[in-house]
Amino acid sequence: MKKRHESPDIDWAHIPFGYIKTDYNVRCAYTNGEWGEIAVSDSETVDLHIAATSLHYGQEIFEGQKAFRGVDGKIRIFRPEENAKRIIESAKGLNMVPLPAERFVEMMEMVVRLNERFVPPYESGSSFYLRPLEIGTTARVGVRAADDYLFILFGTPVGPYFPDGFKPTKVVIYREYDRAAPCGTGRWKVGGNYAGGLVATMRAKREGYSAVLFLDPKEKKYIDECGAANFFAIKGNKYITPKSNCILPSITNMSMQQIARDMGLEVECRPIPPKELREVDEAAECGTAAVASPISEVYDSDNDVHYVIAKDGKPGPVTTAIYEKLRAIQYGREPDVYGWMHEVKL
Ligand SMILES: *Cc1c(COP(=O)(O)O)cnc(C)c1O
Repeated sequence: MKKRHESPDIDWAHIPFGYIKTDYNVRCAYTNGEWGEIAVSDSETVDLHIAATSLHYGQEIFEGQKAFRGVDGKIRIFRPEENAKRIIESAKGLNMVPLPAERFVEMMEMVVRLNERFVPPYESGSSFYLRPLEIGTTARVGVRAADDYLFILFGTPVGPYFPDGFKPTKVVIYREYDRAAPCGTGRWKVGGNYAGGLVATMRAKREGYSAVLFLDPKEKKYIDECGAANFFAIKGNKYITPKSNCILPSITNMSMQQIARDMGLEVECRPIPPKELREVDEAAECGTAAVASPISEVYDSDNDVHYVIAKDGKPGPVTTAIYEKLRAIQYGREPDVYGWMHEVKL
């Protein structure tokens, strides 16, 4: 497939965190017990059987990662091997056939290379979001796993998450909603988890919050995570983050823990009761989209308690330092001492 070269007419610094059509996506189908060749497509749609298991029984898993054009002009993907490992776990969780990790990374590189003209320039602060997904495609009405799967990988340029600067937002606790069950699908990146959290999330937005802070579904005693992001807090010299089997293990969180340790902080991964929010100095959500999004206040709606964390409404110094450090590594401004950045040779 031919690469296109002309620069698209895009105002790079002002694109939304949305979807912009690019030139190509790549696909790989699993049929008759094996993965086929990787196919390049310029279509934005899929032709799916009306009885496909993904449509009825939710056999759908996905990933999210970003590629960055660095200060040196090179394009690098952040830790794609970790996404490859995680989607294998998600596939096993839903009884789907996992795509081999090497194939996953190859597909990621192909999408970046084929759509190079859509990878935003370094100066814009924008990046190229990569969205891998896998669906069960076998036509089946009885509840059973599919025999056939389709893996799709597309990309789209995305703007800076904080176009007006890194600003804290408020989140809310509602005990009447759960996003996932203990021993359920919470630790996998499954579309259904998002669907199950939408009523709570849309209510939070209507009520003026940026997200729901879900509690552990079994006892409602501890903080789990936000619908699409992990939670962490800074308490004195500690980086604390919840330990729970309902949480999606965030690659951003894992990376920030490493940075925190290197900054001399102690990392504690343990259950965190909401009451402890009175004692924390900073709190944030973290994930690929925003990297870190500081939390100014957690409102416990069932007890009518406001945990005000950022009294001055500004992001805390430790969260800011970790955020800046990770962004600098991603854009190639700081040495990649951990080997996180996967260069895409053009
Ligand atoms: C994707 C996701 C995250 C963030 O993970 P990253 O690897 O950091 O992007 C957190 N929680 C949930 C539920 C997610 O789906």
